[in-house]
Amino acid sequence: MKQAIGFTLAALVIFALVPLLARGSAAPAPITAFPTGSTEATAAGTESQQPPEVQGFDETFFLPVLEDGIIRSTSLHAYLTGVLLAEMPMDFADEALKAQAVACRTYTLRGYLHRRHDPAAVCTDSHCCQGWKDPDAVPEADRLRAEAAVAATDGLVIRWEGELIDATFFSCSGGRTESAAAVWGREVPYLQSVDSPGEEAAAHFTDVVRISLEDFCALLQAEDPEVRFPDRIENWIGTVRSTPGGGVADMEIGGRTFTGRALRKLFGLRSTAFSLTLEHHEAVFETRGYGHRVGMSQWGAQAMAKAGTSYIQILTHYYTGVSVEPFDA
Ligand SMILES: [Zn+2]
Repeated sequence: MKQAIGFTLAALVIFALVPLLARGSAAPAPITAFPTGSTEATAAGTESQQPPEVQGFDETFFLPVLEDGIIRSTSLHAYLTGVLLAEMPMDFADEALKAQAVACRTYTLRGYLHRRHDPAAVCTDSHCCQGWKDPDAVPEADRLRAEAAVAATDGLVIRWEGELIDATFFSCSGGRTESAAAVWGREVPYLQSVDSPGEEAAAHFTDVVRISLEDFCALLQAEDPEVRFPDRIENWIGTVRSTPGGGVADMEIGGRTFTGRALRKLFGLRSTAFSLTLEHHEAVFETRGYGHRVGMSQWGAQAMAKAGTSYIQILTHYYTGVSVEPFDA
């Protein structure tokens, strides 16, 4: 391989992550964020840090849920307990679990209002809606923790200008989240890029993917037959553009432009926040974070909770300009 393409041993390193926390890239101006634990309200709805009164809502609200092709009616409390068990580790701190419960309730009721799986509100497939675990099939201590987080936030949802938000969440951002605009190409006012410190404990805070140069070239050529690899490996990579959240917006490889999302999918990367190093036998991707990185970071929520931050502060940090209110308000 080395002789065939005649490149030097010098490694070519493209650090897409350098601008992770930089403020001066060509990308849109970073969105206002406040550091973990800050009590400065930068978003609407942070005035009250006390949870609104419990309404006794979830137990009496029934919704149609699609599971394995069958629609069953279940109380919001029972459904959310199973969702929480599926979506967040039960050893996470109380306030992180509560934040997750409110995000999941918001997602669920939005699905209910929009009849996402008409006539069902939501399904139990984690790749489609939200995962669900039978509360009777887990250790009792886990079930009790999940139930407690759901009950403590009974009936509460997240709204932006009165509308239930699309409460997206993911495992780990790697230090900063992405805006919906940067990842999905659509501007969503409350899904902006914000700092997400303290995630280093996450299992996939960083990861490395190594791939042989043969496979690297073959995969790119399958994706785009126009891609060309000159003799000198230093010339393989061109312009790299970063997102405000420190991800790769797009990267020029072999004279063609690939989006960060396309490269993530092509090489099975955990996130679009990656650096690419071309060595003499391998392409080495080093990723930060895990998931689409839009909305609430679960590991960031855990870090904030452990630092004493309330679930409402967590939610108003990750979802810009929102308020937490009872559903029937
Ligand atoms: Zn679904």
